[in-house]
Amino acid sequence: MDRNLKECLEPGTLSRDGFLGTDPRPPAAIVAADAAELRRLGVAPAAAAGLLAAIARQAEAAQEREVSLYEGRISARLVEGRGRIPCPFGCGECAAKGLLAIRLADGRTLRTSPLGIHLLRAHGFLEGQGAPFRLAPADLQALLQAAAGTPG
Ligand SMILES: [Zn+2]
Repeated sequence: MDRNLKECLEPGTLSRDGFLGTDPRPPAAIVAADAAELRRLGVAPAAAAGLLAAIARQAEAAQEREVSLYEGRISARLVEGRGRIPCPFGCGECAAKGLLAIRLADGRTLRTSPLGIHLLRAHGFLEGQGAPFRLAPADLQALLQAAAGTPG
């Protein structure tokens, strides 16, 4: 199963750029390392995914304009793509294509997609190092802190 998963995560199978970036580790090792890092930072994956989904909903309502959220501490813009993309983990989820760009007041940026939010929520997968849509654990921590209004 894991070999099939790795193939699905590579460039050109489901997405042009793939999900692994320049990361040589097997997907299970990436998931395990990020889970440990999220625990160390005190970030609950479900909370991070829930916040990203809430931001995506509000950005979607703005119809591709940038929206200012959480008293200006978070800006977000969702650009919708055409069609849907199946989850590379083969769980049956088929997510709308789109790019969610998030900017924090400190200049930090996060890039993800409806599929990326699903990958975090359902599989604990933040994508490999160097992947264009990787969600770094420290960035998720900063995002949650920005939403809560607590200094980092
Ligand atoms: Zn899935």
